[in-house]
Amino acid sequence: MDLIVGGGVVGLSIAWRLARAGQDVTVIDPAPASGASHAAAGMLAPVSEVAYTEEPLLRLGLAALERWPAFAAELEADSGLSVDYRAHGTLDVAFGADDLAALEELAAFMDKLGLPVERLTGRECRRLEPMLSPSVRGGVLAGGDAWVDPRRVTAALLAALETMRVPVVPRRATDLLDGAVRLADGELLTGERVVLAAGAWSGELADVPVRPVKGQIMRLRSPHPLLGRCVRGMVHGSPVYLVPRGDGEVVVGATQEELGFDTRVTAGGLYELLRDARELVPGVTELELADVVAGLRPCTPDNLPLVGEVRRGLALATGHHRGGVLLAPLTTALLQGEEPELAALCSPQRF
Ligand code: FAD
Repeated sequence: MDLIVGGGVVGLSIAWRLARAGQDVTVIDPAPASGASHAAAGMLAPVSEVAYTEEPLLRLGLAALERWPAFAAELEADSGLSVDYRAHGTLDVAFGADDLAALEELAAFMDKLGLPVERLTGRECRRLEPMLSPSVRGGVLAGGDAWVDPRRVTAALLAALETMRVPVVPRRATDLLDGAVRLADGELLTGERVVLAAGAWSGELADVPVRPVKGQIMRLRSPHPLLGRCVRGMVHGSPVYLVPRGDGEVVVGATQEELGFDTRVTAGGLYELLRDARELVPGVTELELADVVAGLRPCTPDNLPLVGEVRRGLALATGHHRGGVLLAPLTTALLQGEEPELAALCSPQRF
C-alpha cells in the first residue's frame, strides 16, 4: 500500500491514478484541497509562461499539457463532475513601450525554441478580446495553452476517490518512516511506500529543499463572460493575469512574495493586482469581488519539482512551485516509471 501524505492537486492525482491502476492507497491530510491548489488560477500555460533560464521546466510543462485532455476526460467520467478544462490559448499583452520591447524579446526567444506563437498588433488583440484597453500595444498568442478550474479538479479527485473507496485520513502526519507514517495522535499507519506530497509544508516532514512562495489572488464575478481566453500582461514591468471561468468568474493574480508561511491577504497586494488588471481590462473594477486568498507555492532552488524515490519506502512528489496544476498528470506518470528522461529532470538526487 502507498501512503500519500498531502491531499492537494498533486497528492490527490497520484492517489487517483494509482487506485485506478488497481493499487492500494491511502491519503493523509487534515484539510484536503486547502493549500496552494485552493488558491491556484489553473493555467496550463507552459508556452506563455516560458522563462529564459527554464527550458527543462518548459519540457515538463509541454509533456504535462499533452496529458491534460485525457486526464480531464477520465477524471470527469470517474467523478461525474466537470473540471472546466478549456483550450483556447493565452494572449500575452504589453501595456507600455518597455513592456512591448520585453514581449518582443520574449517572442524571439519563443521562436528560437520553436514554440507555436503568433505576434499580434494592439488592434488584433482587441479584435480577439474586445474588453482589452485601447492602450494595449501588442501581444503574443499562445494558441495551444489551456486552463482548468483547480477547485473543481480537487473536488472531482476527492469524489473519484470516494467512489473507489480510497481512504482519506483527516489527520496531520508528524513523522515519515520508510513505509510508515506517524500521525499527530500517535497512531502509526504502515504500508510499503510513503509518498510525500505536502506542498510547501514538505520541509517540515523531510529534509527537502522546498520553501513557500506566497501568492495573493482574487476571484471576481461577472454577469457576462468578460474574456474568451487567458490574458497575461506586463504593466510597466509588473506581471498580472486574468483567467475566465465558464460561470462568469474572472480570476486575477498573482503576487509572488518571499514571506515564509505568511498567508495574510494585504490591501497592498490586492491594490497592485487590481491596478494592473484594470490597465489591461478596464471593466474589471465594475465586477463583484467574490473571493480573495493567499496560497503558498512549494518552490525548489531550481524551480523544478522533486519527483521520485529517495530510498526504498519513501518517494517525493513536491516542489511544483507555480505549475503544480499543470504538472499533476505528468507527476503521476513519472512516479509510475513512465518517461524516464523527464523523470531524470525531477530526480530528488540532484540536491
Ligand atoms: P498543496 O495544494 O499546497 O497541498 C498540500 C497539502 O498538504 C495540503 O492540503 C495540506 O493540508 C497538506 N499537508 C501539509 N502538511 C501536512 C501534514 N503534516 N500531514 C498531512 N498533510 C499535510 N499552478 C498551475 O499549474 N497553474 C496556475 O495557474 C497556478 N496558479 C497559482 C496561483 C497562486 C496564487 C498560487 C499560490 C499557486 C499557483 N499555482 C499554479 C501553483 C499550484 O497551486 C501548486 O504548484 C500546486 O497547488 C501544488 O500542489 P500540492 O498538492 O503539491 O500542494
